[in-house]
Amino acid sequence: MAKYFGTYGIRGRLDSLTPEFALRMSSAFGTYVKGGKVLVGRDARLSGTMLKYSVIAGLLGSGCDVLDLGIIPLPTLEFEVRKLSAAGGVMITASHNPPEWNGLKFADKDGIGISSEEGEAIERVFENGSSKKAEWNRLGRMEHYMLGLEEHMDALRRCIERRHILKESPRVLLDCGNGTAGLIAPKLFKEFGCNVTTLNGQLDGSFPGRDSEPTPQNVQELMKAVVALGADLGVAWDGDSDRVIFVDEKGSYIFGDKSFALATDIALRERKGAVVTTVATSNAIADVASERGGTIEYVKVGGPYLSRRAKELNAVIAGEEAGGVIWPSVHLGKDGFITALKILERMCKEERPLSSLIADMPAYYNSKTKVECPADRKQTILKRFKEKVKRDGRINSMDGVRVDFDDSWVIVRASGTENLMRIFAEAKSQRKVDELLRKYKRIVDKL
Ligand code: MG
Repeated sequence: MAKYFGTYGIRGRLDSLTPEFALRMSSAFGTYVKGGKVLVGRDARLSGTMLKYSVIAGLLGSGCDVLDLGIIPLPTLEFEVRKLSAAGGVMITASHNPPEWNGLKFADKDGIGISSEEGEAIERVFENGSSKKAEWNRLGRMEHYMLGLEEHMDALRRCIERRHILKESPRVLLDCGNGTAGLIAPKLFKEFGCNVTTLNGQLDGSFPGRDSEPTPQNVQELMKAVVALGADLGVAWDGDSDRVIFVDEKGSYIFGDKSFALATDIALRERKGAVVTTVATSNAIADVASERGGTIEYVKVGGPYLSRRAKELNAVIAGEEAGGVIWPSVHLGKDGFITALKILERMCKEERPLSSLIADMPAYYNSKTKVECPADRKQTILKRFKEKVKRDGRINSMDGVRVDFDDSWVIVRASGTENLMRIFAEAKSQRKVDELLRKYKRIVDKL
């Protein structure tokens, strides 16, 4: 088990994520990628500058050359790693966490995040101090690279048929949440002919406008403003812009599983092939995939697993229920800009409001609950749970234990960061969901 790496890199407050830690871990990463060119980017968090210079020092000392891309969204870094044929990338961000947090997201040469399992190799170098120490005349060199945003935007321009949006000139509200989306979204949506109003567009690492995670509670202002201004669409990103959620023209929050189902429908109309998702994502995705001639593939929960499998299968699309969608024809990381533009393009092309497009998606109800559980008991609980329910339905234990029934399912997973077991259920009616949750929570409670 990795000690520091979570599903995608390392996150922490500054008491654990110190400049010294960032330097040593980056030096271990530089050793892991065996030199070459590494891209470095950061979000606007207040500790970003401090950590960036530590990361750069660690990389240069291990003999890597560094291109400093400045403040950029995470998908820009992941896109640029492949475009510039780099050996890897480091993004200094804590995604949607509170402002006192920061983190290091490491990516490999494909722009795919280093997962917890892959991180173990880097941690070994970190722990035993075996990072490469380059000779004085073999140290890496650093340059600034200011074209990242523009090159990523060019790729976004190429994947959309602008004429549909230009023709409709929709009114859109963009809630950038003081995150990195403000660097790309307002400019691009205006360029595509949208009538744009931006909320929280200024970069600010203290996130004064709203909490960085685009949950329904955190985007209330956007939901109200969409109705007040009579907008066609509201869009909100998280801090590093890989995740995006939507508000329809009625001011309703569209959950990530619904927008991912719509995105899957869009992608499969363009090309048939594999759709990759996690074992904790709605069956709506599998339904859309089978209806549109795609095949569904499941992976463990976490961005790097989605990216890796999407690459292996040359997938059409990959994603999860929290609003993170990968469009592999552009790059292998979750990209909230492509998702937003593709959905807007579809609305304009068919001249239909978002609420009507979403209403076409398979309807499922879901709910979640949790049970407290000390870290050292999680695996035992999962094992016992699996034993207990093995005759209830089809069992999948790729990540936690999922039990599939005819048109409903329940999954029990250990939280990666908290002392909790999470239980999630989905069915065709709310009554059935509540029933499933009650039944399986009771089983977990008794284990
Ligand atoms: Mg994020």
